[in-house]
This record gives sequence, C-alpha cells and structure tokens, in this order.
Amino acid sequence: MANKAYKFRLYPTQEQEQLLAKTFGCVRFVYNKMLEERIQIYEKFKDDKEALKQHKFPTPAKYKRDFPWLKEVDSLALANAQLNLQKAFTNFFSGRAGFPKFKSRKAKQSYTTNVVNGNIKLADGYIKLPKLKWVKLKQHRQIPVHHIIKACTITKTKTGKYFISILTEYEHQPVPKEIENVVGLDFSMNTLYVDSEGKRANYPRFYRQALEKLARAQRVLSRRRKGSNRWHKQRLKVAQLHEKIANQRQDFLHQASRQLANRYDAVVIEDLNMKGMSQALHFGQSVHDNGWGLFTTFLQYKLAEQGKKLIKIDKWFPSSKTCSCCGRVKVSLSLSERLFRCECGFVADRDTNAAINIKKEGLKQLGIA
Ligand SMILES: [Zn+2]
Repeated sequence: MANKAYKFRLYPTQEQEQLLAKTFGCVRFVYNKMLEERIQIYEKFKDDKEALKQHKFPTPAKYKRDFPWLKEVDSLALANAQLNLQKAFTNFFSGRAGFPKFKSRKAKQSYTTNVVNGNIKLADGYIKLPKLKWVKLKQHRQIPVHHIIKACTITKTKTGKYFISILTEYEHQPVPKEIENVVGLDFSMNTLYVDSEGKRANYPRFYRQALEKLARAQRVLSRRRKGSNRWHKQRLKVAQLHEKIANQRQDFLHQASRQLANRYDAVVIEDLNMKGMSQALHFGQSVHDNGWGLFTTFLQYKLAEQGKKLIKIDKWFPSSKTCSCCGRVKVSLSLSERLFRCECGFVADRDTNAAINIKKEGLKQLGIA
C-alpha cells in the first residue's frame, strides 16, 4: 500500500466559512481542554510512571456534555485533535519533542477529518464533507480511480484562502527497475544542486525576483507603526508574498524532481543534516528556504513510484576534496576556490567534481563498478 496526497483550493460559501471557523475553534478548544486535563494528570502521577500509563485520558465525548455546541461540528475533527495530542505526548515521552503546548488563536487554522461510510465524496467540482455538505473546489488534476480517499485536512491560510489536502491510499508494488542511468547531485546553496554531468538546477528568475520583492516588503513593514492601519495592510501584503513564494518554490521542486525521476534509474545524494548544517555554517534560515529537504522527499517518492532508487551516502564522505579523476584527496580546499585542480592535471568545476564523486560512491553502494 502506498499513500499520496492531493491538494486543491476550496471555495466555501459564507455559511460554510462560518462553520469552518467554528470547527477550527472547536478543535483548538477541545485540544486545549484535553491538554489542560492531561497536564493535571501528569503533575499528579509524574513520579509514578506505571500509574501514569494506566490512567484513562479525557476524550472529546466527555466535553460534549458540558459544551453542547461542540456537537455542531464534525466529530471526526475533534477525534483527530485527540489523536494529535496523543502523538504530541508520545513524541515528548520518547524525547523527540518538548512538552505539548496549548494552541493559540494565532496558530494554523486547520483540522483533519476521515472517511467513514462514504461521508466524503468528490463529484463535478465539489467535495462532500461531514457537516459542511458540498463545498466547491478547483480540482486541477484527477485522482486515479484506484486511489481510495482516507482523510482530508482543511486549512485556512493567513490571507484567507482555503485548501484541502486529500490523503489517498492505493495498491502499489512497482517492479524494481534495472539500474542503468545513475546521476549524482551535489547540494548547492544558490541553485539547489549541481549534477555529475555538470548541469545546475536553477530557481526560475520570477522566483528570485519575488524573493527580492518580499525582502523590500518586509523592510517597509518594519518601518510602520505596529498595530496601525498601514501596518496591518502591509502585513497582509507580506503574508501574500510569503504564500506566493512558497507555492512557486514547491512547483519548482516538483518539476526538478519529476525530471530527474523520469530520466534516471537511481539518484545519489549526500545525507545532509540540514539543521546541523545551518547551525554549523551560520547559513541561518536560507538553508531551510532552499527547500532541499522538500526536494529530496519529492524525489524519493517519485523514484519509488517507478521502482527506482534514491541512494543516500554518508555525509562525512569528502566529496569536495577528492579528485574524481585519480582519487587523490586534498588536505584543504577553501570555499572560495570554484575550480578544482588536481596534481594529476584534472581540472573541473568544484561542484561538478563533488557530484561525480557522489555518483561514484553511490555506484559502489549499488555494487556497480
Ligand atoms: Zn587527480
């Protein structure tokens, strides 16, 4: 079984918008109520792990008695709030995350609902959702008939747009593809990657222009008096630009990963730890903005769909300092040296040389000489 999500824009009526706002509010309310209670239980049994495990935790049903208006919204949305809280605690107990936090009004407006007995249906530009009935949507691509809808997440963005992410499940056992064409990618701050054939992926010009526009809009915002009318107006403009840029970036990453997955049977990359890397190199936000993580996620499933492979090699492999021609490893190579020159006479673009080494290392892992 495999999963795939489809995201579409929703166009609710005014009445539906009101119900959506109510649902976001109820989900947050129930989440915070359950968290409040669980904090009390936690405080009480903190020193007795067994008792803590045995204790029955609150469920949304309990609050419906005291707060009957909770019955007006999709009960599956509330059930998912409980599951999310459970997940937050599991992550906390395993040390993967901090103690669960209360959801504020400013937090992301979203809820998830599940398919039960045909309560969710897609037809003729509309989607039927629990309590909301038929909501208009812009379905720019078809969901294949063998994909079964499992859950839907409805989100409202900061600029007031609605989106639905439809999670599907489908039977999928791709035949492993025989590996003939392999490419290595070297991560690059400015252009996403350089491949072992010397090609650079490059963000489209309009994307880079939008980034400059955003930086300007943010400077204007910082000069306005906080809370003033002009400040609110500018804040909306910044949020709109953020959304636009995030969409453009995602489109580009989909496109770039699609091309690679179609052209090659295996793609080799370095297993970079972005968080560690941005801290170590003081790149700050830009490494995350670069979208490498998102890109490799797309690449992974687009290759897997076709029975192809994404190979990750050790991040400590000296891909930059090694000569891809003779294998000599340089003692030092400064970041300003854009050309790689080896004693053996080999000269190549620094990033291309690294990408060739990454490819070679991947071939070794694949057992191909
Ligand atoms: Zn050499």
